[in-house]
Order: sequence, then C-alpha cells, then structure tokens
Amino acid sequence: MSTHENRTGATAQTGALWRIASTRLPTKWGMFEAMGYERDVGTGAQNVETALAIVLGDLRQGAPLVRIHSQCLTGEVFGSLRCDCGGQLKLAMQAIAQEGRGLVIYEYQEGRGIGLMAKLQAYELQDAGIDTIEANHALGFKADFRDFSLAAAILHDLRIKRVRLLTNNPRKVRALSDAGIEVVARLPCEVGPTVHSLPYLQTKKQKMGHALNLELPG
Ligand SMILES: [Zn+2]
Repeated sequence: MSTHENRTGATAQTGALWRIASTRLPTKWGMFEAMGYERDVGTGAQNVETALAIVLGDLRQGAPLVRIHSQCLTGEVFGSLRCDCGGQLKLAMQAIAQEGRGLVIYEYQEGRGIGLMAKLQAYELQDAGIDTIEANHALGFKADFRDFSLAAAILHDLRIKRVRLLTNNPRKVRALSDAGIEVVARLPCEVGPTVHSLPYLQTKKQKMGHALNLELPG
C-alpha cells in the first residue's frame, strides 16, 4: 500500500474521505502501519471527523480480523475500571498480532459519541445510582450516539469487503452489513468484569444486546 496516496478522495456516505498520512507504527505487539483518515462532515469546509486505521500485515486476502474501537480516554490512558475499553483494545491488538494480520479502526467517539465532558457528567449521575443508558437520556443524549459509517468507509477505501469482526456489539455487525461489508464471523472481544465495571457491562448486555458472559473471577 502506497504511503503517498494523500487525499485519495474515496467517496463515503456523508462526504469525501481523505487518507491524510500513512506511517510505520512500531508497537509492543509488532510493526503496524498507522493511517490517518479525515472525512468531511456535511457541506461545511471546516468540519471533519477523524479516525485511525492501525494495520498489520497484508489485508487483501481472505477476511481479516477487524476491531472498530471508540476512544475512551479514562479507560485507555488512566486505566479506569468503570468500563472494559482499555482491555478490549489490548485484546484486539493481541489477537491481530497473533494472526499476523488485521486492523483496528480507532474512532474519536468518546463516551459512545457524547464527548468527554458529557461522559464525566454521565458518570456523576451513575454515581448517584442510575445506569449508563438512563444517564445518557438524562443528559439529553441517545443511549449510543455512535455512527459506524466512517469505519465502513475506511474499510471500503482499503478494499476490504469481508471481515471477521472482534466485537460483542450487534449494532456494529449491522452497521457494517448495511454498508455492504460482509461480516463472515463475529468474534467475542470480552474482558472479564470487575466489581467496578459489572453494572455498566450488565446494562450493555441487558439493554443494548451485547453478547457478554459477565462472570466475575473467583
Ligand atoms: Zn471506556
């Protein structure tokens, strides 16, 4: 894959998709390639949404492992145990490294798309005893504000038509299928719960249909 195909301009559903840069990214799991993408949002020239494709190996053959991951500052940077995001990202990188090929599409959709400040406000409400979905609703947001069309557009840009998707979330499978990407398998990306994350994960299982076992260790 060329590293100089800047602004290739693959057309997506809501606006032009630009591959801004493609660079080597050595990680503790191996030598990945990091591709930065931007997509125009609507007609305004200033508004873009951003995502990274973190790629390992040659993805042109078969159905590679794919993880569509939404940014979680608290879980990934600070090791928060309120959610499973940090562990899920690590699991995905490990699984891809083990196979020697696959990719993570990393989107800036903090707090299921509501942003960091609103996520902290939602945590504050959850501290008072309501669940993650009720908290989003109390703040005037949908339970899940995310739109996975950018991830689908990136897969189309990379000429990936079939994937094995690392997710517990049925919405992600549907979103890709609706966008013309065949999900030949859904593979679990399950991090064992902790006492801190259990209520959050139970809500995801019961109210959002996530495929989770939720057995506390010991
Ligand atoms: Zn999280």
